[in-house]
Amino acid sequence: MQYSRLCEVYEELEKNPSRLKKTEILSNFLKKLKKEKNKEVIYLLQGKIFPDYDEREMGISNQLAIKALSRATGLSPSEIENLWKKLGDLGLVAEEIVRKKKQVTLSAKELTTEKVLENLQKLPTLEGKGTIEKKISLIAELLTSSKPKEAKYIIRTLLGDLRVGTGAGTMRDAIVQACFDKKDKEKKKEIIDLVQESYDKATDWKLVFEQACKGLKQLEKTELEPGKPVKVMLFLKEKTIEDGFDRVGKPCLLDWKYDGFRMMINKDEKGNIKIFTRRLDDVTKQFPEVKEYVKKYVKGKSFILDCEAVGYDSEKKIYLSFQNISQRIKRKYDIEKLKKELPVEVNVFDILYYNGKSLIKTPFKERRKLLEKIIKNQKWKIKTSESLITDDVKEAEKFYKKALEEGEEGIMMKNLEAPYKPGARVGYGIKIKPEENEFDLVIIEAEYGTGKRAGWLTSYTVACQDKGKLLEIGKVSTGLKEKESEGLSFKELTKRLKPLIAKETGRRVEVKPELVVTVVYQNIQKSPTYSSGFALRFPRITRLRPDRSVSDITTLNEIKKEYKKS
Ligand code: ATP
Repeated sequence: MQYSRLCEVYEELEKNPSRLKKTEILSNFLKKLKKEKNKEVIYLLQGKIFPDYDEREMGISNQLAIKALSRATGLSPSEIENLWKKLGDLGLVAEEIVRKKKQVTLSAKELTTEKVLENLQKLPTLEGKGTIEKKISLIAELLTSSKPKEAKYIIRTLLGDLRVGTGAGTMRDAIVQACFDKKDKEKKKEIIDLVQESYDKATDWKLVFEQACKGLKQLEKTELEPGKPVKVMLFLKEKTIEDGFDRVGKPCLLDWKYDGFRMMINKDEKGNIKIFTRRLDDVTKQFPEVKEYVKKYVKGKSFILDCEAVGYDSEKKIYLSFQNISQRIKRKYDIEKLKKELPVEVNVFDILYYNGKSLIKTPFKERRKLLEKIIKNQKWKIKTSESLITDDVKEAEKFYKKALEEGEEGIMMKNLEAPYKPGARVGYGIKIKPEENEFDLVIIEAEYGTGKRAGWLTSYTVACQDKGKLLEIGKVSTGLKEKESEGLSFKELTKRLKPLIAKETGRRVEVKPELVVTVVYQNIQKSPTYSSGFALRFPRITRLRPDRSVSDITTLNEIKKEYKKS
């Protein structure tokens, strides 16, 4: 397919902010894509080059993009940087300078989506000496045959900032519209759920689209595959144990809510073990000991286990809070050292797949029984979560108290008959923890400090989400320490934000919305200042959430609910 055809779609999407209109534009394009053999173009539609479960990255910085633009157009990097300062978006810079250049030399070759994908997909595979040079050549080759608009979108794709607003919900609805002609509202809702379910199992829009093109029956056949990450099931929140029983029924299973991070452990038929976070990041290398525990203490040819990894102090033998072990998720060096200093215990609480069969439709009580059969519990290594089946409020309260005494966050209460729903926040289970007002929010802007805080980003604008859009809910500048030894520091946050900077204006910077933080607050107020319509009183950042992505942050609806409650 000609890349220019795709760029026309990008343009249209960019011009139309309404989600309904975007869905229509996308579905019209997908109707055409149905006839094409290679459907990988669907990745490009969302500014990606691989399926969502694939974490390979192109690794292109602003500076590298500037070098490639310089190579392709003959302009010097400083000329390009000046223009960037003026326009504030490297995509627009690319468009403008390619337009000017085209007045002199007209490129002969038509750029195709296949060629764009071919070159971009090579980027993550490059390593070692000469990598930068090779990356520049691959990009410059595309830019040399680009028309102005094409250059704009190539650069934006490379920088992970397509700005056309095609989130997961729009993609799902567009696939339904393109593949199923259903006027009946009820039926349409069913199909939307099915497409969503298929995506939650596969985490790959191309595969979902291919199945949908073949019809409903095929779509239903989408299955889990150990080794490929799957989205985790999420839970609701209740205040009291009575409310919990009302929601999940009696009796139910209670288990401790560990304060660690979610881990999905996969073993495929060949015996390969892979560990993913709930963001679908592969962290197998970071947790070599977990791989060993699984080999030794979990029976089964293939499986997918849902767990919480919790840090503990190996001398005092007490559990530690998540913050203590968060660095183990990202750190790719000193792994052996970290393994000793910050050991984790894996608490397995669910199983989605076993010996070649998906278990997501199997009732929870049977999944739990199977877990207990295949895991040889080893305290401080791997074990099934601490649990109790009861219909008695008093017994449940005793269990809750014990969990808190052990330093855990609270308890979960789970419906014994429920299936597993990947990717959904459903009422098949609820959490109960002592009341604390907190939201997980993403940082979208920050400001450099002055005086002794100069050089650090010290004030952060945070946002919640609403149907794929990010909405500001305030500025936070407390909760962080000046000394690194005292806890989460300004320095640490600055270090993490700097690579995400997209635009600088004086002391203020706009950052790519990637860094998720937990913000504790006293209460919520209505506020015209922020686009969410709300502001938090006395907000403070208490922890980084490297295990969360933007799609996991608090939604506007949740904020409205909390506001009403208070
Ligand atoms: P929170 O910020 O309270 O951890 P969340 O938004 O991450 O909530 P929820 O689904 O609301 O996710 O709450 C459950 C979370 O608690 C899971 O995502 C998981 O990481 C963690 N957890 C700890 N112990 C358990 C357990 N026994 N069963 C299920 N989840 C558990």
